[in-house]
Amino acid sequence: MSFRKIFSAEVIKRKTSSLLRRLRGGIPRLPPMPEEIEIETTTACNINPPCVMCSRNWVTAPPVAFMPQELIEKLKPLFPRIKSASLHGIGEPLMQEKLFPLIGQFPPDAKVHFTSNGILLDRTKILELIKHRLAHLNISLDAANPLTYKKIRRNDCFLVIKNNLQLLSAVKKELGVNDPQLWINMTLMNENLAEVADFVRLAKEIGAAVVELHLINRIPVQYRIASGSFHFDYAAQLIDVKSSRFRENLIAAKALADQLSIHIYSSSYEILNVIRPKTQPDYGRKKHRGKYFCLKPWRHVLVYLNGDVWICCHMRGENCVMGNLHGSDFNTIWNNDKITSIRKDIANGIMPSACCGCPVFEK
Ligand code: SF4
Ligand code: SF4
Repeated sequence: MSFRKIFSAEVIKRKTSSLLRRLRGGIPRLPPMPEEIEIETTTACNINPPCVMCSRNWVTAPPVAFMPQELIEKLKPLFPRIKSASLHGIGEPLMQEKLFPLIGQFPPDAKVHFTSNGILLDRTKILELIKHRLAHLNISLDAANPLTYKKIRRNDCFLVIKNNLQLLSAVKKELGVNDPQLWINMTLMNENLAEVADFVRLAKEIGAAVVELHLINRIPVQYRIASGSFHFDYAAQLIDVKSSRFRENLIAAKALADQLSIHIYSSSYEILNVIRPKTQPDYGRKKHRGKYFCLKPWRHVLVYLNGDVWICCHMRGENCVMGNLHGSDFNTIWNNDKITSIRKDIANGIMPSACCGCPVFEK
């Protein structure tokens, strides 16, 4: 009996492609290029002295004002695959005109966004953001009123920013566009915790669609500084996330947000556990089938202005720099031994040492 009589053409085709798939599966494949990128576009900031909790209070920023074009060129081959791009670091992106053309280099459906202090936002910049299709603009305010704003951000610009954001809403309305969507964010500390619900109210008033909340970071140094008559003590501002005060303020804010159709976004599991107890965020918050798991090493990359390549900003310790773009191309770094070993650990349910301080992974 001939081979063809036993297997129809359709069956042969199916079996061949299944065999090919199995063979290919046995050959370790290179991971695809990342879909999400964070670029520290600038380290310069127009708020001086820095906001009370800013790392510029204890780390000296490099003197370069904007990411060198040479590094952007090295990253360009990644851009066509990018679905989400974040264009800020510890600095103010709106200080740099070079920011605008960079926004427009990602695919039209990519969600490009950045965080700003909002002080420099004017009609010209708003038109540039619209022209280059920024998806959302996230403004750091940290307070619902001028008094708390001044204590935390050490300047008098609360009302200036509020006007700028109202101008953004007005220009969008005038041009009939929805983007950039406005987000406002608050770093929660003991000083502003009681204002979260008012912050949601403020979002409604100025046309913001999303309120982002995060906790003041646990950092390796502690310091105290004066902001006018306010004495900021870093350690004293860390919130007790098990306290009823934390819970009650967040629950009140969430109830109001639901009522006003404002979305609350957070990547902190301590916050999400209160406002969305049953929902998991994108990344390795809980163990997956009893094992530690996080997708970031396959799809996320963070590039600092000095060329250092990280997987994500939550990594800590000596092992978090995967390579530097000044001495290498991106492909080589993305497939080097260091990053491959992190992926292997994660695929085996082991938390790599660089991830041990991760605030978004619930131990
Ligand atoms: S706006 Fe950002 S970078 Fe500037 S001082 Fe404040 S926290 Fe730091
Ligand atoms: S530090 Fe956290 S978010 Fe980053 S790769 Fe590790 S587990 Fe994922």
